[in-house]
Amino acid sequence: MMRIAVGSICHETSTFTPVPATWDRFYARGDEVLSTFTGTNTPVGGFIEASQDFELVPLLCAEAHPAGPLSREDFDAALDELIQRLRDALPLDGVLLYLHGSMVAGLGTQQIDDPEGHILEAVRQVIGPKVPLLVTLDIHSNVSPQMVRLADALVVRETYPEVDMAERGRECVDILRRMLYDGLKPTMAFYPLPLIWGMNQVTAHVPMRDAIDYLHDIESRPGVVTASISVGYFLADVPDMGSSIIVVTDQNLEQAQNYAEELAAWVWNRREDWYFELPSAREALALAEQAGQYPVILADMRDNPGGGSPGDSTGILRTFLEADLQDACVLYIVDPEAARICHDAGVGAQVSLLVGAKASPLQGEPVAMDAEVIALSEAGEFDYDGPMFAGLHGRMGLSAHIRQGGVHVLLVSVREQPFDTAFARSMLLDPQQMQYIAVKSTAHFRAAFEPWAGVIYVVAEPSVHDFGNLPFHRLGRKLYPFDSTAEFNNPTGVLPA
Ligand SMILES: [Zn+2]
Repeated sequence: MMRIAVGSICHETSTFTPVPATWDRFYARGDEVLSTFTGTNTPVGGFIEASQDFELVPLLCAEAHPAGPLSREDFDAALDELIQRLRDALPLDGVLLYLHGSMVAGLGTQQIDDPEGHILEAVRQVIGPKVPLLVTLDIHSNVSPQMVRLADALVVRETYPEVDMAERGRECVDILRRMLYDGLKPTMAFYPLPLIWGMNQVTAHVPMRDAIDYLHDIESRPGVVTASISVGYFLADVPDMGSSIIVVTDQNLEQAQNYAEELAAWVWNRREDWYFELPSAREALALAEQAGQYPVILADMRDNPGGGSPGDSTGILRTFLEADLQDACVLYIVDPEAARICHDAGVGAQVSLLVGAKASPLQGEPVAMDAEVIALSEAGEFDYDGPMFAGLHGRMGLSAHIRQGGVHVLLVSVREQPFDTAFARSMLLDPQQMQYIAVKSTAHFRAAFEPWAGVIYVVAEPSVHDFGNLPFHRLGRKLYPFDSTAEFNNPTGVLPA
């Protein structure tokens, strides 16, 4: 039986947030990898599901919530453990890895700009150049030339909200199987785009849907193994930051390069289509009243913990309270201090407390609330049941559901966006019964919320991630629209074999 190692080291790192990172999402070793991810809609869950006829050797799955860079100690410790387990697992017939693709590790002179390239280099040193190495990445990946050189194929997710996590994992296994049994020899072309993708990334909606349709057209052509669009992750001031195209063919690099450039040109020619202006929460509420479709959902994308934001900005909460909305809720505000006060007071108590904006002055002003404590949870444990992460166990930490007038707030301690409504329901709050819902999320919430939403507005409120004013110093290429002189003339973007 073929022996295949499986593992992940994952972090989406903002170089602009004050939030520190630790391995706080998962740190599963050996068999814990199987017990944590089997049967889940996650990349590693997909690896496991499709590998029934392989002898799987689980290494390590380390994942941190999106935040600032991990310390070098934490990063090196995880990489060392992965590599030691990989050595112990030899001989191997293949390696399956899930890497986020937009990680930065260490600070100052300790910083590694491209940890994924660094990880793949270390893995190759153990397994050598010939053992198949398949890697799946987030759609928000800043792909580097190093990653392209070292992996046999990079497979980027092609949905946002990212519901195809397990599916892309299975795709990696499929490519691996063809390499092992059918003589497939992947040739991978990489085209870094001279642009950063704007807010139009939701793959179910035009114009992004057109981009994915084009991608699928290329994938359906004879000789193409897989193709990817990475929209990039622009909260990172590193040389490889930006969007890119990847095309993998079977022993035909020129074909891969031609198709990569074709799709890159198509994206570039529509570069203005990927952007739109965001209203404030107040403006969005006014638009919503005109539209008259409920429930109204406001997505606070700049304070999305899923992008490394603190998750405690108060712009929308303040707007909801000032508007004296009824049947309104905020999912969530990260504020362990406030949650502690609620726990000390107990269910049914009336509490006076300052909520939010404790991570940074850029997150707004704390909001003084006089609220009733509706429900409490020590660990905030629940099971996801929406399209993303279905089956996965979640923990929001010390949590409280409070209500002032018609505005409900879920206070949590773990920085995690609302991927579905399961946690809220466990706290006696059913978002589907609400008229106004604020989510600290950019798009992932859509998978579970959009089917029953009346209208959704992505809004801009103050946060540490004020997209128009991020101080970039280290970008490796000119990027539209930050740099109006960016041009589509980057033949060096297509790498030789
Ligand atoms: Zn993503």
